[in-house]
Amino acid sequence: MTKQLVYIGLGSNLQDPVTQLITALNALANLPDIKLVSQSSLYISDSLLEGQPQYINAVACLETVLTPEALLDQLQQIENEHGRERKERWGARTLDLDIILYGNQKINTERLIIPHPQMALRSFVLMPLLEIAPNICLPDGRVVADLLADCPSQNLKRLSS
Ligand code: ATP
Ligand code: MG
Ligand code: MG
Repeated sequence: MTKQLVYIGLGSNLQDPVTQLITALNALANLPDIKLVSQSSLYISDSLLEGQPQYINAVACLETVLTPEALLDQLQQIENEHGRERKERWGARTLDLDIILYGNQKINTERLIIPHPQMALRSFVLMPLLEIAPNICLPDGRVVADLLADCPSQNLKRLSS
């Protein structure tokens, strides 16, 4: 199995979101078969849905031999360990871990769509991704930096570390 560079989007808006993200990054770094290559700063932004607390987000770059499905299993286990509950779609959450990019692969199965289908509409994904991968492109050749211009800002701000 070949090693792949993978980008993971992290998000939280419940129960001390900054701590949720820091402990999630540690959990990722400690998984066998995963090397944490780099991580963005933490960002804060308004929720896409009205009435929810603000979100803390970040993006991490991993190197892994895990298949996309096996990686998703690991991510969902970490979400569960952080008390993730799925009551309603896009509800407030303690931790969300999404696969944004998996190498240069396009995947469309019942469990996984990669690149993440909403990434181009989400400044909280694009900005941290560009912080750690300024020249990155999508599998279809689109330049991620170009996507940001058409993306709503959601009042996104980088938190000073
Ligand atoms: P969104 O996908 O819009 O960010 P969400 O992250 O809140 O929404 P979840 O409840 O975390 O959605 O996940 C719902 C399902 O999405 C998961 O069970 C998983 O099978 C599926 N899924 C599809 N593509 C991906 C992906 N690229 N990364 C993570 N989960 C994905
Ligand atoms: Mg998500
Ligand atoms: Mg998710």
